[in-house]
Amino acid sequence: MTAIVNNLKKIQQNIDIAAQKVGRQSEAVQIIAVTKQVSVTRAQEAIATNLVNLGENRPEGLLEKAEAIGNDAVWHYIGSLQTRKVKQVINAIDYLHSLDRMNLAQEIEKRAIAKVKCFVQVNVAEEEAKHGLTVASTMAFIEDLAQFEKIEVVGLMTMAPNTADAAIIRSTFKSLKKLQQEVSERNFKHAPCMEVSMGMSNDYEIAVEEGATFVRIGTALVGNEGSVAK
Ligand SMILES: *Cc1c(COP(=O)(O)O)cnc(C)c1O
Repeated sequence: MTAIVNNLKKIQQNIDIAAQKVGRQSEAVQIIAVTKQVSVTRAQEAIATNLVNLGENRPEGLLEKAEAIGNDAVWHYIGSLQTRKVKQVINAIDYLHSLDRMNLAQEIEKRAIAKVKCFVQVNVAEEEAKHGLTVASTMAFIEDLAQFEKIEVVGLMTMAPNTADAAIIRSTFKSLKKLQQEVSERNFKHAPCMEVSMGMSNDYEIAVEEGATFVRIGTALVGNEGSVAK
């Protein structure tokens, strides 16, 4: 596998170019290194490369890496989270990117010791295989979250359809950005909603052009060791 430092240099250049294209500051874009398909050693290499944000999508992977790396990283849980697994991870993470239903919110309220920074996941393209709320139902869901003391809605998250059609990807990201602005304009105390989590290895440049503040990059940054994926 390529050294992370070389991958990062290339990705950062691409982010700089994409940001510049639309008059954004590239400092406004944070990279989350998605380490779900690599070893603890590879995740430690990411930290040694000055990456700070690490993303995992399974409780086992998160806990294993958090034990080895701890406070040297900011921990992002980016996968769909089963209600019964909330207690395993909720106090070990800094951000949850997959808040998508009321019973998950209720379980977080019950198990979290401190306020949890959450992204509400939106299934913009309404794909059947994907988690997340529809665009139309997101605002009401966020209003409902006001009842919880442990939930702070810091932003919205989406995954673009897996397609080579850049126009479809772009319109997905545009919709999420528009929705984020609509939520933030409501000035909800529990939902400042200033962040936009979108963009992965194949589409992060489009995401940056469309307003991402967090991109979640696995394969192109830390690689994919395959055998440790499952
Ligand atoms: C795996 C994953 C990523 C990273 O995907 P790559 O294509 O490897 O960059 C980003 N976001 C989520 C939610 C993921 O599950």
